[in-house]
Amino acid sequence: MKTIGLLGGMSWESSVEYERFINEEVRRRLGGMHSADLLIRSYDFDLIEQLQLAGDWVAAGDLLAGDAALLESSGADLIVLATNTMHKVAPQIEAAITIPFLHIADATAEAVHDSGIGSVALLGTHYTMEQDFYRGRLAAHGLDVLIPDEADRAVVHDVIFDELVKGLVVSDSKERYLAIIDRLFDRGAEGVIAGCTEIELLVGPGDVDLPYFPTARIHAVAAVDAALT
Ligand code: GLU
Repeated sequence: MKTIGLLGGMSWESSVEYERFINEEVRRRLGGMHSADLLIRSYDFDLIEQLQLAGDWVAAGDLLAGDAALLESSGADLIVLATNTMHKVAPQIEAAITIPFLHIADATAEAVHDSGIGSVALLGTHYTMEQDFYRGRLAAHGLDVLIPDEADRAVVHDVIFDELVKGLVVSDSKERYLAIIDRLFDRGAEGVIAGCTEIELLVGPGDVDLPYFPTARIHAVAAVDAALT
C-alpha cells in the first residue's frame, strides 16, 4: 500500500471526514486490521483564510508546495489536497513534487462522467464557483457547468465560511441550499457537485433527488484507488 500525503485543515471539519473516508475505504477493500498509510499536514485555517482574503495566492501556494515537498521527502507516494478552493494553487504544488498530485476536479469529473450526465451544477466558495481553475477544469472534461446566480452564490459562500468551517450545521441553511439546488435543476442541471468539502456535512446524497457528487468522499476514494494500485 502506498503512503498518502494529505494536506488538510482547510477546514479540519472536512479533513477529519477525509481521514475517516480513506480509512473506511481501505478497510472495505482489504478487510482485517487494515487501515490507511497516511502522512497529514494540517493547517491553522485562519492563516489560509487570511491569505485568500488578501488575494495572496502566491504565498498560499508557496506554503502548500513547501509542505507537499516535505511530505514527499517524508515518504509520501502521492499528494491529496483536502479542499477544492486551494486547488487554485495546484500548479505550484505540482511543480514542487515528483510524486502524483490527485486533482479533486479530475476525480469529480470522472465520477460525473461515470454517472452518464453532462450538465452539472457546481456549489462551492466564490473562488471555486467563479474562477477558471475549477470550472474550467470541469469544462475541459466535457462537462457543462451551471453555477447559482449572484445572490445564491453569496448564500452558498457565506454558509461555508460563517457556519460550516466553524462546525455549525444549521437546518435553515440546509433548506436554503436545497432551494438553490432546485433552481439549478429548473435551469437544466442533471446533477449537483458539492464542490466544497464542507458542503457534504450539511447536504448529503439522501437529501437531493438529482445525482449528487460529494467531492471529499469522491476524492478520498480516488486516493485509495491510487494507493492500492
Ligand atoms: N474546504 C473548502 C473547499 O473545499 C473551503 C475552505 C477553503 O477555502 O479551503 O473549497
